[in-house]
Amino acid sequence: MLDKHLKIIAGPCSAETPDQVRQIAESLSGMELYAFRAGIWKPRTQPGAFEGAGTEGLIWLKEACEEFGFSPITEVASTAHVEAVLKAGFDKVWIGARSTSNPFSVQELADALQGTPTTVLIKNPTNPDVKLWIGGIERLYKAGIKDIIAVHRGFSTYDKQRYRNLPNWQLPIALRQAFPHMEVICDPSHITGKAENVPMVAQMAIDLKFDGLMVEVHNDPENAWTDAQQQITPKGLKALLSGLKYRSRIELDKEELRGLRAELSVLDEQLIRLISKRMVISEAIGHYKNTHQLAIFQTSQWEESLTKFLQMAGEMEISPEFAKELFTLIHQESIETQSRILTKKNDHGSHQS
Ligand code: PEP
Ligand code: MN
Repeated sequence: MLDKHLKIIAGPCSAETPDQVRQIAESLSGMELYAFRAGIWKPRTQPGAFEGAGTEGLIWLKEACEEFGFSPITEVASTAHVEAVLKAGFDKVWIGARSTSNPFSVQELADALQGTPTTVLIKNPTNPDVKLWIGGIERLYKAGIKDIIAVHRGFSTYDKQRYRNLPNWQLPIALRQAFPHMEVICDPSHITGKAENVPMVAQMAIDLKFDGLMVEVHNDPENAWTDAQQQITPKGLKALLSGLKYRSRIELDKEELRGLRAELSVLDEQLIRLISKRMVISEAIGHYKNTHQLAIFQTSQWEESLTKFLQMAGEMEISPEFAKELFTLIHQESIETQSRILTKKNDHGSHQS
């Protein structure tokens, strides 16, 4: 069940054709969307890719929204974009991540929007710099814009294995602390970059009490002209929203406890594997001592290793009593392993003689 207080924004990454915009709006009709989104001017990483339909796309968006009862929203990145959007009668815009990264751009947009009753959504900058995001919001407030909503869309990363843009959840949480009365919504599409992971990230945002979601929705995601991998279908959006769980603090705490226990069990496994590796090396040392007729227990070596171990433990705030007991146990087991090698060899030798 959808929480009525959540602001849901849905629509394609880009307006491609009048039919595409209309069809998607039609498939979403009847839903209580805060806004229907579509990019008209697309910031692309490399030139030559589809850069958006331009101003005529505003009309497609406006007409589809009028027909299906939605409020349109699009991205603005320059004074000319703001002028065109205001002329078309939009009352909501969003500032994209690349613009938020540049204070000159945000200032230009704040100046162009000054004195208008526009609702401005501002995405986080591409780099994980919460002060830059806060600075952008301050520029908008200074220009007299009253209705501002922050959009968390993740932060650029070189390693795009799990996320297209890393969520770094602590940053939107810090932003919320800086502006306790401002709403913050999440864009799971640009965070994950993969359609199948959008519901999972959306649920994380709901668990963190975000105020809404901006989701990229396309009626034929595979053939979308931009961001084809991350767009979900209208049906997918409905399933996502009806599958959201609104967990109480107690449930979330329980979940956190489960998560922490799972982490512990991974660490326990690593611990036992490390100890086993240590024993293998210790056995190799046992064979060497045996061949070279060295004593198994060498006092100076033991004292030196124990001192090093206790020093490292101290640096990691582990109690010296516990560290000493642990290391003595591990060392004792090594000595026993090495002694067994010697006994075996002797047994073997005595059989031969
Ligand atoms: C978008 O929402 O389509 C977009 C370009 O987003 P971002 O600025 O987050 O990359
Ligand atoms: Mn996109």
